[in-house]
Amino acid sequence: MPTWSQDLPAQQMHHGFDLRRTPTDRPLKALVTCPTIHVCMTHFWGGRTVPCEAPDCEACEAMSPSRAHVYLSALESNTRDHFLFECTARAALPFKEWLDFHGTLLGCYFTAHRPKRRRNGPVEIICRAQDLSKVHLPYPPDITRAMAVIWQLPARAIQTEGALNSIPKIQARTPHIDQQLLNLADGQRAETPICGNGRRT
Ligand SMILES: [Zn+2]
Repeated sequence: MPTWSQDLPAQQMHHGFDLRRTPTDRPLKALVTCPTIHVCMTHFWGGRTVPCEAPDCEACEAMSPSRAHVYLSALESNTRDHFLFECTARAALPFKEWLDFHGTLLGCYFTAHRPKRRRNGPVEIICRAQDLSKVHLPYPPDITRAMAVIWQLPARAIQTEGALNSIPKIQARTPHIDQQLLNLADGQRAETPICGNGRRT
């Protein structure tokens, strides 16, 4: 039975962000441009990955298994292409560890590759510090909104996380990260927090 709605197709709102998974033939190397991971339960349903929309989820009703996927925005080092990255929760553990230690993923430089070079083979992610003093990180997209567009959800289902909130947060934290990463390179962490205007408290 066709599903009718009053919403126009979501492609009209395309925010220009492509979704990338770890390729099989080469490692993906990129800098994270958002402060945290975004986790969503998904199904492989109708030949593609779609979000679980429980309790009102067609895939759940059909007993399709669900699993958590992790999303973040990243900037590819070579091409400066700003994109959305998807991996499984298991593959994303290094991001979680980084987040627990540094308090933000902003500026985390990661390499993602598939050691067995098989499509859908396990993904290995390695995170390391990067000197951000000469890197201009772009503002992150509204990831939940950008994913809703990619998943072609109707406009009424798009949940925004507040694009305006993300901008001051980035500006406030960037000097802190710079200092922290530079200190990490010297083998020690920054012990004195830096406040939003870049001056030490
Ligand atoms: Zn579901």
